[in-house]
Parts: sequence; structure tokens; C-alpha cells
Amino acid sequence: MKRLIFTTAIILLFTNICFGQSWLSRITGVDVNLNNGTVSIKPPDVTAIPPMLQNLPKDVGQTLLNPAAPILASAIRFSKGQAQNRGTQPIPQNIKQQLSKYFPQHILESTSWTTANGISIDGMLKNWLNQEGAVTLDNVICFSSVELTTNVELWAHELTHVLQYDQMGVETFAFVYSTNWNSLEGQANENASRIIQNINSYNQGNTQSWTYNIASTVGQTQLTWENVNKQAKLSIPPTDCIWVNNQNNTTGNKCPCSILVTGVIMKRISDGFVTTMPCNEPTCLFPAGQSGPLLSPPGFIITGVTAAHQY
Ligand SMILES: [Zn+2]
Repeated sequence: MKRLIFTTAIILLFTNICFGQSWLSRITGVDVNLNNGTVSIKPPDVTAIPPMLQNLPKDVGQTLLNPAAPILASAIRFSKGQAQNRGTQPIPQNIKQQLSKYFPQHILESTSWTTANGISIDGMLKNWLNQEGAVTLDNVICFSSVELTTNVELWAHELTHVLQYDQMGVETFAFVYSTNWNSLEGQANENASRIIQNINSYNQGNTQSWTYNIASTVGQTQLTWENVNKQAKLSIPPTDCIWVNNQNNTTGNKCPCSILVTGVIMKRISDGFVTTMPCNEPTCLFPAGQSGPLLSPPGFIITGVTAAHQY
């Protein structure tokens, strides 16, 4: 019995890992396949948003409906601006040469670096810097010390983050990082360690054990926050946003976007008869986060609503 439970747990864990990798691979376009020994980089796929949402708690997923980008995105842009004002340098030639087979050309050309000294890096980004010795702000890599800029594996790791930004855009990157940072870190670790293995094997005279496949269309499209918003609206039911509290006769919209309540579902207390009354007053449009009184007709209790997203 114990063994069965153990096996089931392993299978569940395995399924989770596979599932997690599949949405991340699709949204970043970066697919590190350990079994096949291949890495492929394709344009990002916005339809990976629904499976990503399934992996998140409902309230966290609903933040993806917000037309305003995550706060972390502003922090990334702000710190990047400071780094650029201080002056950045291109990737050292010998590093670029070693990594030229593993990253698209435009990534190696557009990335620059500096040290993190004197740049205000807060919260989550500070943790990132402390843990890795470098933090990637879109296409600017800030190293905690100049000595670390000779570390090829660290470059490969941070350049994977540059690629993730390039594919997803700063806003979507910030969302995924603030809700599921370990998925992006896992991908960067995996890609970097495979690159180093491949370089070492090649330097020892072996033929290349890993295949890198970079689609020629990579770099031409980037996910926008607007696209991601739209995709989230397709997968998050608008009725999930509206809450109804019959105890204290209040109702509201817990989502960060407007919701149009199209109908009110009511149950007659005497016999349980259920009916939906169309809602077409101006008050049927619930702005983001709004709450207010709930008015039930005499003898009825409101049990729910029908609703629609605003596009
Ligand atoms: Zn990292």
C-alpha cells in the first residue's frame, strides 16, 4: 500500500513537472528537451496562457486581467534605465564567440552589461542579484562584480533570461517571474548547464551531443501585455470575478478589470424556483474592484449572475 502511494506520488510529481514545462516552453518558445538531447527556440505562443493559469491559484491568475502591467515590470524598466545612464558594455568577444551557437544572433548583439554598483535594485530583483551574482533587466545584465563576467555558465544563464524577456516582453516576463519565478530560473539553469556540457564535450574533441535549433523567425514577434490580457479574458470566466454575499447583502467585482453583469440568477425562497432576470441598468457594469449593495426582490434570494468581459 505504502509503495502504491509512493508510486502514485511520483507519477503525480512527474506529470506536474511535464505539464509545467510544457506551458513554459510554449510561452517562452524555449524548449530544453533532456530526453532527446535537443534545445529548440521558436517564437512564443500566447495560447500557453490558459495552461499557465491552471497552475496558479485563481486570485493570482485573475491579476493577469489587469490592463496595467505588474509593478515588477516598472521596477525592471527603472533599474534598466539607471544601468544604461551609467553606461553599459557589449558582451566580451570571447564569451560571445563561445556562446554564438547557442543563442540567436540578435540576442548576442543587443545585450549589454554593467555592474550593479550604484543602481537601485529593489525587492525581488535584489534577491535575484544576491542569489545568482547577476540580475538581468530586459537586455542589460548587471553583475555583482566584474570578476563574474568571465563565468561562461553565468553568462549562458543570464542570456537565457534575456531570451525569455525578448520572447515574452518585459510585462509578461514580470508576471511569470512574480508568480512562478522558479519556472524561469529552472529553464535558465537547465539551458546553461546543457550549454556548458556541450562546450566541454566539444573542447575534449567529442562530436556535439546536443542539437540547438533556433528558428529563423525568432525575434520577429513578442508577446504583448495586451495580447496576454485578451488571452486571459478568454480563459477566465467573467462570473468568477463577481461575488455575491447574501449575509450582508453586498456584491462586487474582485477582478482588476470591468465586468458587465448581464443577468441576475434568483431563487424563490418558497419553492426553490430559479429564474434569471436580465440586467441592463448602467449599474450592471462593475468597474474593477468595485463593491456595493445587493438588492433582492421580496421573496427571492440572489444566487449568482451571468456576466461578460468588456473588450
Ligand atoms: Zn536566473
